[in-house]
This record gives sequence, structure tokens and C-alpha cells, in this order.
Amino acid sequence: MQRAFIVVLAMVLSVGWAPLPALQGTAGASRPTWAAASMSALEEELTAKYGEQSRSGLQRGLKQVLQFWRDDDGDKTAFEQFARVHFAADAMARDTLRSRFERMVEALDGHMGEINRHLKTQADLEIGPILPFDELFAGYDPEAHLVDDFFANKLAFAVLLNFPLTTLEERLKGGPSWTRGQWAEARLAARFARRVPASVKLQIARVTAEVDQYIAEYNIWMHHVTDGRGNRLFPAGKRLLSHWNLRDELKASYEDKTSGIARQRLIQAVMERIVTQSIPAAVVNNPGVDWDPVANTVAPSPVNDAGGAVTPTGSTSNAPEPDTRYAMLLKTFQAEQLRDPYSPTAPTLIARRFNEDRELPEERVKAMLEQIVMSPLVPRVAELIKVRLGRPLEPFDIWYNGFRVKSSVNEVELDRIVSQKYPTADAFRRDIPSILTTLGFAPERSQSLTGLIAVDPARGSGHAMGAGMRGIPTRLRTRIEKGGMNYKGFNIAVHELGHNVEQVISLNDIDHTILSGVPNTAFTEAIAFVFQAQDLRLLGLAADNPKSHAMNVLNDFWGTYEIAGVALLDMAVWHWMYEHPKATPAELKAATLDLARGLWNKHYAPVFGKRDVVLLGIYSHMIHSTLYLPDYPIGHLIAHQLEEQIKKGASIGSEIERVTRIGRVTPDLWMTQATGSLVGADALLEAAGKALKEVNE
Ligand SMILES: [Zn+2]
Repeated sequence: MQRAFIVVLAMVLSVGWAPLPALQGTAGASRPTWAAASMSALEEELTAKYGEQSRSGLQRGLKQVLQFWRDDDGDKTAFEQFARVHFAADAMARDTLRSRFERMVEALDGHMGEINRHLKTQADLEIGPILPFDELFAGYDPEAHLVDDFFANKLAFAVLLNFPLTTLEERLKGGPSWTRGQWAEARLAARFARRVPASVKLQIARVTAEVDQYIAEYNIWMHHVTDGRGNRLFPAGKRLLSHWNLRDELKASYEDKTSGIARQRLIQAVMERIVTQSIPAAVVNNPGVDWDPVANTVAPSPVNDAGGAVTPTGSTSNAPEPDTRYAMLLKTFQAEQLRDPYSPTAPTLIARRFNEDRELPEERVKAMLEQIVMSPLVPRVAELIKVRLGRPLEPFDIWYNGFRVKSSVNEVELDRIVSQKYPTADAFRRDIPSILTTLGFAPERSQSLTGLIAVDPARGSGHAMGAGMRGIPTRLRTRIEKGGMNYKGFNIAVHELGHNVEQVISLNDIDHTILSGVPNTAFTEAIAFVFQAQDLRLLGLAADNPKSHAMNVLNDFWGTYEIAGVALLDMAVWHWMYEHPKATPAELKAATLDLARGLWNKHYAPVFGKRDVVLLGIYSHMIHSTLYLPDYPIGHLIAHQLEEQIKKGASIGSEIERVTRIGRVTPDLWMTQATGSLVGADALLEAAGKALKEVNE
């Protein structure tokens, strides 16, 4: 499998861009020829039977079913018979249908979740070596065909015939006055809002694998990146993946007050070469050559530090990478477009991301992000950074990370305290009731919540795995070192515990299980961060340096300012692609660079004193994560709103108890019920203003 991907990648690199082959036999979901006649006949027949008041529901239901009905679902007679049998004409029949579906969906989610957990146990937990077949088990997804099966056996059509598929606009407008039952109906119907043919899914999976591979192998061998005098500023063997490792290396270089800046300037030059695709193709993932990214010259390298990781090649051509980055983005776009005709309530990727995944209108998100990048606080925080750095800002300082404060307690001592307290995963589990009581949950409630949290030793740093069915424990996965848990592990475990508590309450104590959870991951992350921030208090130690909270807020604000620009670029590029579906990679590159420079000149150049910088275009997510980037800044905004609210409550416990029962309604409705205001940037801006004052005092 791995091999095949590499062959495909090599072909792409050598022949450059080629459009996707047209798919066979998937010309969009077109209605059967008999649809219109059948619909009006059924409308008359069933209205006569059940009364005039059932007409509008009937019209909507028949239309919804026909939107997805295909020839292989049956002919005219089969469709009409289906509608006669499955139409729920009155409120009682609909309630019965909904509540039985809810029970079945809960059972399916719960048991599927358990199967998935078992399949991945060897891969996830520190319980001995992972053998090759364990990986195959972990990669198997028993749920992959569930929605297809539900269309094939017509359960999906029974839902679509009786409950409305809603648009975001309808949920925003009507949602606040809907009953919880209506919300449950809307969420149930939304499970069947798309019917994407297997051939389309396969084509998308192929493209995704190819593009992921391109991103995963885009390494720069830093010992071979030289400055203008041929000096190697980075140690041998250092290989950085674009963009994550490049950015993190840039951030880490702030620690080195003498030569950090030279390295940061080189990393910026590397990033700009990648974005503009003037990077020589020969230097990508190749330790066989040396490269001066400023002069853009390539020479054979006398140093071999690859350690067998890749085979160096000595090509000294500085021929640029042939716009492959943008060819990959175009492929991602074209693959997503294949889904459009099968997604009637959200017929573009942009609509699916904003209206279905985030449930925040794009216009509002754009306005929130602009509120951040245009905030009068930006130049003031920039001024503070300038003073702290003792030099004028340079464009790479969008990644300034010097606001973080080291803990006032020494880490070795913390490790000792934690490992003594928690030598095993079970010791941590036994202490959860006391942790929850300290956070303000009632003692007996702390016990009952703990009864639904299992603790496992994780292979990685830790994660929380929710359950899909009431009564099944959520899993807290935590890292236990040989000598017991260390402080870092504890800090993460407390974060995960926040997720687990949200998962337990929002599933077990909610009125409709189909509404279990929170509107999106930003909400559960905010709850987890509130827990995590209490870690020292939970160890019985004094709270941290009083200025550390203010510094953390400024760090968040600056990070949001940076990623908001990146997100605005991601959004603008997707609009451009939908407006220019026939563009070539070179045209897409030119447009992306224009948009990146435009955003920079408007929102960043005044602060950094330099125009036409393209750094906002470096994120790899832009190429392979289909408009995911706005989630980051939105997450920061939501986290601040929620944290401020929880601080106002009687205790963390009481506020968490209250807000986790709201469930998966729209983010705005959730936030209004939790805090009294819509999702927005005000809380972060207010906190940043206060923090700036505190730090400047
Ligand atoms: Zn988390």
C-alpha cells in the first residue's frame, strides 16, 4: 500500500498537474422520471386519508425521499408503497418513530464505539508490542458502510419521509423556539442529509491518500540549509516537516538570544520559497544537496547525515518545484466537488464546513476574525513584544511565543510529588472522586461520575474516549512512566478528565441522547482547559505566578491574531477555487499569493513594517484539510467565553453540571444558554485588554 502511494507521488512530481479523470456513471443525483406524477398522486391520496393538516409535512417528506431515491431503490410502485407504509401522519406516530429511532441510534453508536475501542486497544494502550495484524485491526472501521446500509434497507428514507432536513438558516432562526423533541428530530434527519455513492467516496479517498502523502514527506533537511556564507546553522540530522516542525523550530529559537534570530530568518526564507514554489525541487526531502534559500542556490553536499532515512541524490539543479503544492490543493478541491450534487442542504464544501460542521454562518465567522486582526490591541501588544525582544519586529514574529511563564515550582520536585501520588493508572482512578470534589462537584456526585470513567495506560501522551451509549464508561487514557506518573502526564490527565466529565454528563444526564455532546470540539476543549488550569491546586500547591494568567491570555491573543489571518486566507482561497473551477495550478498559485499578500498588507504590514509577505500561506492544512483552519481561531474565542463564564459560577463543578446538559444544539444557542451571549470575539478581546494592563503595570 505504502509503496503504491510513493509511485503515484513520483508520477505526479514528474508529469506535473493532470486533471482528475471524470467519474463513470455518477452524474449527480437526478430524480426518477416518474417522480413528479407520483408525488402529486400520493399527496392527494394520503391527504384524503389523513386530513388536510398533513399536506405540508407530506409534501416535504416526499420531496426529501425523492432527492435521494435511486433506480436501484425500486420503481414507481415500490416508492409509492414505501410512502404509504411509512408515513407517520400524526404527532403521536411521529413521536413513537423518533423515540424508537433514538434508542436504536444510541444502541448502534454505543456498541459500534465498543467494537472500535476493542479493535484499537492494542494500538492505543501500553500493553505490549503492536504486531502487524494489530495495525490491520486498528485500521478496520465497522461503521464505514452504516449510512449506505440505512439507505439500502430504507430506514434512512423512513426518517427523511417524516422529519425535516434543515438548513443552518432554519436552525438559527427557528432553533431557539424549538422544543427539545424538535431538536432531536432535526439531528436525526441530519444523519441522512447526504448520500454519497461509493465510487465518489473511493475517488475522494484516493486523492486524500495522495495529498496526505505529499504533505507527510515534505521534509527540509536543515543541516543542509546554509546562510549566505555557507554556514550550517542547524545540527546534523535535523529534518523538519513543513509547516509544523518549521514553525515549532522557529518558536523554539526565541530561547537562543544570540543565534536564534539568524535561524529564524532562514526558516522564514524556506517557508517563503515553499509558498511561492520557487523552492528547488531537488531540496525537498533530500539531504544530498546544500541549499542557500536566500540566494536560492543548490550545491552537492559534502555531508551525509541522513542515517539511512532517505537516499540522498546529488542533483544540483535549482529548477523550482513545478507548482505541485497548488496541484495538490486543486485535486483536493476537485475531489470535494464530487460530493456536491449528493449534498442538497449544503451543496459546496464551504457550505458543508460552515453550515453543517461548525454551524456558524461564514459571514459571522469572517466578521469575528476581522474583529481580532483589526483590533486596536494588536499594535499595543506588538509594542510590548518589541520591548521584550529589544528589536523591531520581523514578519516571522507572528509566531512570537515569549509570553509563556515557567512554573514557579521546580519540575523535578513536581515529578517526585506526582509519581509518589500516582504510581499506577489505578491510583489515579481511585483519586478522581477527590479531584472532582476539590473542583466543586458534590461528594456523592463525584463518586457517581467516577463510576463512568475508566482509566487505561496510554501508549501516547493521553486522550479521552467518549462512549456512545448510557451506562458505558468513557475512557481516560493516560501516560504512566516506569516510576509512575510524572508532572507532564498529570497535567494532561487532568485535561483529559475534563473531557471525560463532559462526555459522561452530556450523554447520561441529557433528555435526548441524540443531542448528547457539545456543538463542536472547541467546546469540549474549553472545558478540558478549565480543568487543566487547576492542576497545581489539585496537588495542594499554591496557584502559579499571579502574572502567568495575564501572560497566557496575551499568548492566546497573539496566537489568535496570527491564525485568524491564516484562516481568512484559507476561506478566500476556497471561494476563489469555486469561482474558477477550471484554474490551472499556476493560476491557483498566483491567486493564493495575491490573496496572501493582500491580507498581509491590510492586517499585518502596519504592525511589522514590511509589505507583500506571503507567510500566511505556509500551513499544510490549506492543502489537505479542506477549510479546517478557521476552527483554530474560533476555538480560542469559544474557550475564552466559556472560561470567563465558569469563573463567574459558584464553582467549576456547578457550572460544568449546568452547561454540559445543553447538548448538541447550534454553537450560538448553546453559548446563549450557557453565557447569555452569542459566540464572538468580545470575551477574548476584553481579557486581552485587561491582561495587557496587568503586564504593563
Ligand atoms: Zn483536549
